[in-house]
Amino acid sequence: MTAKIISGTAVRDQILQELKAETERLKAKYGRAPGLVTILVGENPASVSYVTSKIRTAQSLGFREVQCNLPADVSQEALLAKIAEFNADPGTDGILVQLPLPKQIDEKAVLNAIDPDKDVDGFHPVNVGRLMIGGDQVLFPPCTPAGIQELLVRSGCELSGAEVVVVGRSNIVGKPIAVMLMQKGRAANATVTVVHTGSRDIAEHCRRADVLIVAAGVPGLVKPEWIKPGATVIDVGVNRVGEKISEKTGKKIAILKGDVDFEEASKIAGAITPVPGGVGPMTITMLMRNTVRGMKRRVGEPLS
Ligand code: NAP
Repeated sequence: MTAKIISGTAVRDQILQELKAETERLKAKYGRAPGLVTILVGENPASVSYVTSKIRTAQSLGFREVQCNLPADVSQEALLAKIAEFNADPGTDGILVQLPLPKQIDEKAVLNAIDPDKDVDGFHPVNVGRLMIGGDQVLFPPCTPAGIQELLVRSGCELSGAEVVVVGRSNIVGKPIAVMLMQKGRAANATVTVVHTGSRDIAEHCRRADVLIVAAGVPGLVKPEWIKPGATVIDVGVNRVGEKISEKTGKKIAILKGDVDFEEASKIAGAITPVPGGVGPMTITMLMRNTVRGMKRRVGEPLS
């Protein structure tokens, strides 16, 4: 068997098109576009690159995009004051603070200071609670798990009644995707098992999975013999395993590998995400979708 490739870039392009149309509709109806604020502290190259991609995507959709760049030695007080300012701004629907933050700043205090109704990353305890309750309580599903769910739905994967195994229990991927897929309702209703470093026989659990979601950060952790023939495999892992010269730019770029042995797994799985080009492109896309959701909630429109 050769697995169907679930392309995150293709799904991303489709969703961005939908979001662009939705932005134009909102603009025509309410006289303003969804507003996203990106807060960047310092100049960490990886953070600059992530924020730049988010800004470019927001601008390409026609959002009102506000960049708030603060020096690396900014005080916590000054950062909290900025957040309070954006919390109170009626044109701001989403506030994103790029992590990590410098040592003098308490990350938790900053994330908890964001108005939960503008917390487009979905990391505020109120939004984590809403996610746990599920249904129409959910305002901002966290971006990477939301991207995974969207990939599963749009690739035609049947989730209701499916055996889902999640490898990893982090707060940003493993735990939230497990909660989202076990909820009663559309695009969920699965039987979910979560495995981690304390689990006794990970391979045995994985072999039962109709849908295997791997978010461990260990290159090649999942062996082909752990995969049930025909299963859908979502590889969230992004591991830098070396460097190469890009054919396009002639510059040095990282060689990235997932947590699954892609070549071998593709011979057994029914469908699989590649790395790169699978889950990766979905995260920023879902951030944009959350910003649109934020505006819809603020203007009193139903969230679909
Ligand atoms: P994390 O916080 O390091 O959590 C990793 C989880 O995997 C932990 O729960 C850990 O178990 C478990 N784990 C590690 N090694 C294991 C092993 N040998 N067997 C079983 N479980 C194991 O990582 P994360 O933030 O969730 O990220 C996971 C991966 O996804 C990383 O490669 C990251 O770069 C990638 N990622 C990609 C995106 C994206 O594409 N947009 C977004 C987020 C993350 P314990 O809890 O027992 O330690």
